[in-house]
Amino acid sequence: MKIDRLSIVLPCHNEESNIPELIKELSLVLKPFAFTYEIIFVDDGSKDSTFKIINDISKSNKFVKGYALSRNFGHQIALLAGIENATGDVIITMDADLQHPPEIIPQLIEKYEDGYDIVNTRRKYDKKTTVFKKTSSKWFYILINKLSDIKIEPQSSDFRLMNREAVDAFLKMKEHNRFTRGLIRWIGFEQTIIDYETNERFSGQSSYSLKKMITLAIDGVTSMSSKPLRLSLYLGFIFFVSGLVYGTYVMFNYFSGINITGWTSILISILIIGGIQLLILSIIGEYVAKIFNEVKSRPLYLIKAKTHK
Ligand code: UDP
Ligand code: MG
Repeated sequence: MKIDRLSIVLPCHNEESNIPELIKELSLVLKPFAFTYEIIFVDDGSKDSTFKIINDISKSNKFVKGYALSRNFGHQIALLAGIENATGDVIITMDADLQHPPEIIPQLIEKYEDGYDIVNTRRKYDKKTTVFKKTSSKWFYILINKLSDIKIEPQSSDFRLMNREAVDAFLKMKEHNRFTRGLIRWIGFEQTIIDYETNERFSGQSSYSLKKMITLAIDGVTSMSSKPLRLSLYLGFIFFVSGLVYGTYVMFNYFSGINITGWTSILISILIIGGIQLLILSIIGEYVAKIFNEVKSRPLYLIKAKTHK
């Protein structure tokens, strides 16, 4: 399949120092190809001059387009905003901090030409990847794969190519809680994966704090599966059986004339059972909150400015 028009979608949050370099590298990589292309930036409520820089460059570079969201909606929603506004028959999504190397784009295109609908990528770690990033990412995937119904490759990222059919399928999913990697697995089609080495951030700071990662993990699990709700069934069963066993033991002692003094055991069981009830309530709460969000059906994002008509 020949590409007619390629769209590159880049969500950015406080990336002012990366944008000029990014455009330079992308233009260099895309120049040899025969197709036309557009570079779409989605400014996700940056506090710096990200959008101003995009806007200035778009005046002289007709390949560059930008949208500014009305506030920070988060990486996953910014990604969606870009994909929804992309006009290409093939779309590549990537990070704006050059951690997803533009040099890999020809490999993605090659796989597309081999007939794949979606080309995913998986980052290989290098010596510079921090232990924090490695460990948190490892646990993230263990959690998601154990608790949800969909298998997601460890180290996979939101650097991927999709053809128009896959994009249209992806856009049919209107849910508010968007865990892109899971949704992409869910839609199916012919998918493949390639490896790349991650670069250090060209400049600026990662916007993903531990708090944002935990939120992404909880959202990932609760939006892809209802398995956590079943936890209460198992826990309830375990506690019921332990109660029966302990009750039998107490009765046995009573009839054998041994008195059981119970302060400690009462306190411990109240604490454990109370804790577990709260845990289960909060799991149910997560799902209720998700339902609440979906029912309100607010728009997923709002655009406050564009670089073009
Ligand atoms: N990003 C975004 N909105 C956010 C946080 C991040 O659009 O609220 C963008 C960010 O500009 C970058 C990409 O998402 O292009 C990945 O973010 P980051 O580099 O901070 O994450 P990391 O590479 O550390 O996982
Ligand atoms: Mg990054």
